[in-house]
Formats: sequence, structure tokens, C-alpha cells
Amino acid sequence: MPQLSADTLLSLDRAHVWHPYGPMPGTVTPYVVESASGVRLRLAEPVAGGRRELVDGMSSWWAAIHGYRHPVLDEAVREQLGRMSHVMFGGLTHEPAVRLASRLVEITPEPLQHVFLADSGSVAVEVAMKMCLQYWQSTGRPEKNRLLTWRGGYHGDTFHPMSVCDPDGGMHHLWGGVLPGQLFAPQPPAGFGASLDVAYASAFEELMARHAHELAAVIVEPVVQGAGGMQFHSPAYLRMLRELCDKHGVLLVFDEIATGFGRSGALFAAEHAGVSPDVMCLGKAITGGYLTLAAALCTSEIADGISRGEMPVLAHGPTFMGNPLACAVANASIDLLLGQDWQVEVKRIETGLVDGLTPARDIPGVRDVRVQGAIGVVQLDHPVDVIAATEAAAREGVWLRPFRDLIYTMPPYVTEDEDVARIAAAVNAAAVAG
Ligand code: PLP
Repeated sequence: MPQLSADTLLSLDRAHVWHPYGPMPGTVTPYVVESASGVRLRLAEPVAGGRRELVDGMSSWWAAIHGYRHPVLDEAVREQLGRMSHVMFGGLTHEPAVRLASRLVEITPEPLQHVFLADSGSVAVEVAMKMCLQYWQSTGRPEKNRLLTWRGGYHGDTFHPMSVCDPDGGMHHLWGGVLPGQLFAPQPPAGFGASLDVAYASAFEELMARHAHELAAVIVEPVVQGAGGMQFHSPAYLRMLRELCDKHGVLLVFDEIATGFGRSGALFAAEHAGVSPDVMCLGKAITGGYLTLAAALCTSEIADGISRGEMPVLAHGPTFMGNPLACAVANASIDLLLGQDWQVEVKRIETGLVDGLTPARDIPGVRDVRVQGAIGVVQLDHPVDVIAATEAAAREGVWLRPFRDLIYTMPPYVTEDEDVARIAAAVNAAAVAG
């Protein structure tokens, strides 16, 4: 393959390539990554402070939990490549997908029995919503077609997931009249250790009771709200949701695309509460960050309900559904995770982040510092100067990607103590600069 010089690459990038949430042409020059290994990204050119290697504080947006170029995961992809990289899933099946689906059923809460393999998190959320709406349609209640969520959430960028993202995030304003009108309760009170606020619970119930006749499901991110603002709430609110959904005949969807596979300190955040949703979405870390894959799991009641309908099938089938390469690496990643004492690693990172980020409380302009599992957040009282904060982190040898008023990290679980300390120092430096 011909190598492009960094200058040529960047000028082509600027002219032709959209980046996430970016303008066209691009206005901020991205760092060019040449390769990645362990927890380090190797850049094509030196950046701030002359660094060419940055410790990854982001796990490539929650996904690369085992770091990069892990020999076991590399081998799983190579091995699968020697058999087939892809075959269609309509009318055909294969061992990597069947093994993965069975494994997901085994490790998620017991009522979840059926797996739809999707090709991205947003699509898994679309499928979860379709499952819920179709369940009610098939069981003679088509009017139950709205969703209820709480504020501060994020569920993806395609249209139905966007409709349940926090309405103040900008997208609702842009798409008023286009997005389906969903219902929003206030954000649950902050704090993993907080006890249930009875007034919040009764207001939530009042809203749900008033709309139960038209509600298909409640959808939330359990315990950790990610891209909507990096807030943590008590598992007591998940128990509240389970109870109210059962009482008022509404389905419950947990979007564990960010929290799944250990990130919050439990394998799935639902376990903190000891409850099971009717539908669970998984993605991101499912393949250890190697390939794009996600899943929507549901109970037998939902699957049976759909099967009783006039159209007894779930009408969804992406071209790359059940991609064998992605399934093979997902199987290897889950084996790798569960084959080690992953709780100890997540706890170790949590302790390192608490130690390293606590001093940020004294930085002027810092509003809050919080840590849950292998997630550390410094919230400012003003919007982050993203360029200044990113460069300050890079000078410390760390890759961070702040947004809104948040400088945050969720390192790969293999990050050693010294690098966790370095990441925390970089978050603090970014908070000073940003
Ligand atoms: N749901 C949650 C909770 C997420 O954090 C994300 C992505 O950040 C998504 C859904 C969308 O996933 P994807 O970006 O793979 O479409």
C-alpha cells in the first residue's frame, strides 16, 4: 500500500472525510494514528510537547477494553479470516454467531433468551424499539407506541434513538417536527450511593400512569448516563423502573451499550440493581473494540408476542448481520474478559482514578469530580476549550476527547497503575487548560 505523507493525508482528510459531529471541511486538525498497541496510540507526527505516543484514556469510546493488538484477539480474527470473513445471515448460520448468541444469553440476566445481532449500537437500539412496538402491535395494543425516558440520556444518532436522547442536547431542536414525540421525565437524582428520592419516584409514577395506555416501553442507560452528560445514578432507580413498568404494563429497555462488559464495576449495570429488563442492548466493548457489532436481547414473552402477530416475524435484517469476523473476535474478547479476575482490574483502575482525580476538586472552574468503576469524570462550570484541553493532555502523553463541560476517561482494563496515574494527571492538566 502506498504511504501518504502526513501533510497529504491531512489535506485529503480535510477536503473529503467527515469526522464525528464535525463540519465539512474540517476545522480542527485530527492527530494521525499510525498504529496502536497495548494502551498506546502511535502517531505519525509528534504533537504537543513533541509526543509521538499517547496513552489511550478513551478505550476508543468505551470499546477497546483489552487494549490494542491483543495477541489473543488478533489470533481470533486471523483464524476466522482463514475460514470466511462474511456470509449473509438470511437462510445461513455459522458457529461464531451461534456461540456468541448462546454466550450472551448465558451471561446476561436469565429472562433474556433471544438475541438479534446488529451492526452498530444505534441499530441495536432501533431493533430494541422495534421489538417493543411490534410486541404491542402483535398483541392487539398498537396504540402503545411511544417511549418514556429520563433526561440526560444518549442512545445513538439514527432517528428513533435520537428521539430519546436528552432534548437539550441540540438534536431535538434541529429535528423538531421530524423526530417522534417521546416522553421525558426529569433526570434521576445524581449519585450511585444516593437513596431513592420518594418525591422523584412518585412524580415518575404519575407521569407513567397518565401515559401507560400509549407507552410501549421505558428506555434508559442503567447507572451511567454516558454521552448525554456522564452522570451516575443509584441502582434504586432501576428497581423503581422495574416495579413501575410491571405495575403499569410497560416494557423496560436497558441500553447497556456503554456500560456492558464490566465498565461500571458489574458485568452489566443491571446487576447493581438485581433486576432484569425486557430488552437489553449491547455494543461497543462486545468485540473488545476490534469490529463493529451490537446486539438486542429480549425475553421469550416478547419473542412469543411478536410471533403471535399478523406479521409474525421481526422485520429487520442488516446485510452484515452476524458478521463472522466480528462474532469470532467477540467470543474471544468475552473469553478473555471472563477468564481473568476482571473485577479486580476495574476496581484497581477505579482506585487509581479516585486517587488521581481527587486533587481536581481544587482546580478553579471544576464543578464536580466523580468516579464509577473504570470511568472518571471531571465536570467544569463552563464549556471545555476542547483544543486547549486536548493539547494539555497530549503534553502529559495522554489521549483524551473532552466534550461539552466534561473531561473524562474510561481507560482499557489492562492499563497499568503508572499509566492510570498519568491519565488522571492529564485529565487534571486538561481541566486547568480547558
Ligand atoms: N447507546 C449508548 C448508551 C451509547 O453510548 C452509544 C454510543 O455512544 C450508542 C447507543 C450508539 O452506539 P453506536 O455509536 O455504535 O451507534
